[in-house]
Amino acid sequence: MNIILIGSPGCGKGTQAKRLVARHSMIQLSTGDMLREAIESGSGIGKKIKDIMTAGHLVTDDIVIKLIDEKLIKNPKAGLIFDGFPRTLNQADALKKILKKNSIKLDAVIVIEVDDNTLIKRIVTRSSCTDCSKLYNDISDPVPADGKCAHCGSDKIVRRADDNEKSIKERLVVYYKQTSPLIGYYHAHGLAHMVDGLASVEDVEKAINHILLAVDE
Ligand code: AMP
Repeated sequence: MNIILIGSPGCGKGTQAKRLVARHSMIQLSTGDMLREAIESGSGIGKKIKDIMTAGHLVTDDIVIKLIDEKLIKNPKAGLIFDGFPRTLNQADALKKILKKNSIKLDAVIVIEVDDNTLIKRIVTRSSCTDCSKLYNDISDPVPADGKCAHCGSDKIVRRADDNEKSIKERLVVYYKQTSPLIGYYHAHGLAHMVDGLASVEDVEKAINHILLAVDE
């Protein structure tokens, strides 16, 4: 089963992707994670995209399309989760070609819906562990008082450079202008399924699993 997760920043794509990986041993392909790794490694691409990402803009299509093209292989051993890709119609067309080239079928596109005010609140209060990716929220699940990750004990808990109010507002504008047209695109392909992202993490997960079961029949 190969799926795309679409939704505005902070809707829970990453959290749900990690749950799908744990439950169904799927492979998460997050372009955001790949780009952050490029920045961390100090590579040429990383230097080029750092300011663009911090400002909340999209990096150019050719960079992310190349990243995905390089990752995909024929007959992957597990189902794929595209998390944060595609984000433009041009990327969606490129993905269609890359999938065809590798004989990979796209089974479903899950759209996680959350209102803007909730998203902004979620993002300005979130941080995560660099070592195990556990997410924290200042209000509902704060970082332990000793500053160490409750899951793996690491002291590397950070806020993303683009998780500030100015950047989030820009990311939302970018989402509505460039990414939300993909919902219509995938509806037209009969692949889009909407999920209420305001429900609890567990209920969103159940809704996604329900869709995957129905699609698999
Ligand atoms: P994410 O981790 O998915 O929230 O992505 C963080 C940032 O990475 C975005 O705000 C963009 O700057 C960049 N990014 C991630 N995926 C893409 C993509 N498919 N196309 C362009 N930029 C992307």
